[in-house]
Amino acid sequence: MQTYKAADNALQDKVILVTGAGDGIGRVAAITYAKHGATVILLGKTTSKLEAVYDEIIAIGGPKPAIVPMDLKGASKQNFRDLGATIEQQFGKLDGLLNNAGIIGSLGPLEHFCSSTFDNIMKVNVTAQAMITKYMFPVLRKSPSAAIIFTSSGVGRQGREFWGAYAISKFAVEGMMQTWACEVGKTNIRINCINPGATHTAMRASVYPGEDRDKLACPEDLMPTYLYLMSDDSKDVNGQSLDAQTKK
Ligand code: NDP
Repeated sequence: MQTYKAADNALQDKVILVTGAGDGIGRVAAITYAKHGATVILLGKTTSKLEAVYDEIIAIGGPKPAIVPMDLKGASKQNFRDLGATIEQQFGKLDGLLNNAGIIGSLGPLEHFCSSTFDNIMKVNVTAQAMITKYMFPVLRKSPSAAIIFTSSGVGRQGREFWGAYAISKFAVEGMMQTWACEVGKTNIRINCINPGATHTAMRASVYPGEDRDKLACPEDLMPTYLYLMSDDSKDVNGQSLDAQTKK
């Protein structure tokens, strides 16, 4: 997948919602989608970060994005419903949803897990993704070809000690993607998952502070997979979990 090359206009006229668009992988995905012609809706917690991404997209001549400041931890059903209605009103459809926002919480033995940390991780990494996906369905149905991408992790496919609630949340994401993909079947909507692999971002640095960052992939290296699953080149792909990096 790392050799995939999207056409320059692969996402022309598409409207794509990216969660966690202010930093890390989501930031680079939003800018990459805009570079390929998409109007990007930037959702994230920190408004100043979203504004910086907005400015970057305007500076490269991308379509004017929209900004949605939202803390997914506290977001309600009504917030998601309102977001769907606003997208419908402003754009008439939604062609893509990248469920990227995530938190790692704290790592350690499951025996010592703290229930409030556990709840927060599940809220942001699982419940909010399920809710936003559910409430975007009506506008995604209005697209001729819509792509939903969830974000998984290696620790969401194979259990590993001390990754705690984060790992459990990523197993849930894989299961959610598969269940949803079975339910949509062959329709205009396809649902897949990406495992980014170890990538140089603030999240990675928070758990591996001493790591040599030059040896890590950067978010830009992952973009062929993010483009492939968002573009119509993957319109027959449903229910798959792809690795964005080739295993070394
Ligand atoms: P970062 O921490 O760099 O970025 C996460 C983004 O999510 C930020 O924009 C952050 O916003 C946003 N976010 C976090 N909490 C909330 C919230 N409550 N409401 C709204 N937005 C929120 O992480 P990465 O870019 O590294 O990770 C992106 C995804 O990739 C995650 O799902 C992660 O689990 C996954 N992943 C990452 C790997 C890696 O090595 N980096 C490996 C495997 C998976 P703000 O900055 O405003 O807080």
